[in-house]
Amino acid sequence: MSITPITQSNIDSARKTDLLGLTLPQMQEWLLERGEPAFRAKQLYSWLYQRLVTDFSAMSNLPQSLRNQLVQEANIGPMIVRSEQHSKDDRTRKILLELGDGKLIESVLMLYPPIGESNARATVCVSTQAGCAFGCTFCATGQMGFDRHLTSGEIVAQVLIFARELRAAPWAAKGLPGSAPIDHITNIVLMGMGEPLHNYDNVLQALRILNSSEGFNLGARHMTVSTVGLVPAIRKLSQEQLQVNLAISLHAPTDELRSRTMPINKKYPLEELIAACKDYIAATGRQVTFEYVLLAGVNDKEEDAHLLGTLLAPLKQFAHVNCIPVNATSADFKPPGGEAISTFRNVLFEHRISNSVRAERGDDIAAACGQLRTHFEKNRKQQ
Ligand code: SAH
Ligand code: SF4
Repeated sequence: MSITPITQSNIDSARKTDLLGLTLPQMQEWLLERGEPAFRAKQLYSWLYQRLVTDFSAMSNLPQSLRNQLVQEANIGPMIVRSEQHSKDDRTRKILLELGDGKLIESVLMLYPPIGESNARATVCVSTQAGCAFGCTFCATGQMGFDRHLTSGEIVAQVLIFARELRAAPWAAKGLPGSAPIDHITNIVLMGMGEPLHNYDNVLQALRILNSSEGFNLGARHMTVSTVGLVPAIRKLSQEQLQVNLAISLHAPTDELRSRTMPINKKYPLEELIAACKDYIAATGRQVTFEYVLLAGVNDKEEDAHLLGTLLAPLKQFAHVNCIPVNATSADFKPPGGEAISTFRNVLFEHRISNSVRAERGDDIAAACGQLRTHFEKNRKQQ
């Protein structure tokens, strides 16, 4: 456990209200308590999410007295960027953030050039917890243990940091002359540190804030929640009026194999998990993505692919498998070679399971979440 020194800035940020954690109605309420009319909340929302400002003094249509009060009582996602790394091709950018209480988290921006009919994309990979309680053996975050849940404001702030960066310096794919530079975030994936559905309320609140048409206005269909497989929370999510995408970290086709790398499987074994996915599909009519981290010699055999095809067959066209060659975080796991990956995928196609493979990216900047923090903490200890 790390001991966080108590500093004046920690005390200040704990005392103030983080505006990024408030929905529009909550901001109206907060301002009302301070004698301000409701329309001020819309103005404030627009400064925060459309103009992307970080400084109350820039909010020129708010009265000076309110701006002064905001300086005293509120802040805008208080966190410090401790380190930033760009991959050589500049398409993956990773930041290490220090939160108000000194905890460290990572966020990543992934930039994709336009391909055929589809436009360029800018996707933020967002953390939802500092550390993680679920201990998957191939995951750098899982090896750290759990620090705490992130607040909704801390989740929203990660997206805004990259949104401001792109606004200030739009990105254009090199070698594609004529393609319009991209200056805004198009997608978010909750695939950073932590388990989103373990921090259910704060995560849902953050997604609603980012979705608000009066604010950041990011469509729910451009948001993906990835889960280790918390069955009751998956069932709860299926009842929300928010059309987000669901990704399940499956990573093995049998209980025996899954329990070896993912301790959560003992609590929610495959039969229960797949049943919850089936009900989710029935309730939402939406496809579910199954993430499958390929670990050479562990879960990448032809037989594993057949078992996976059989497991997912009842979900028919509503199941999609995303094959992810593991980012080696320790000597224990290695990604399979290209041939093993294509054999695995072909077997899935034989079972009529749609599938894709995640292009490896950002290896030169320790892309798997948790790795940057691990490196940073190792260096800090050595200093
Ligand atoms: N806790 C959630 C979301 C964060 S992890 C979950 O587990 O789904 C996001 C994705 O990255 C998950 O599919 C996870 O299994 C995967 N992942 C973890 N460690 C990885 C590694 N070393 N290489 C590739 N993917 C990894
Ligand atoms: Fe946690 Fe997801 Fe990593 Fe598992 S893969 S330890 S659930 S962050």
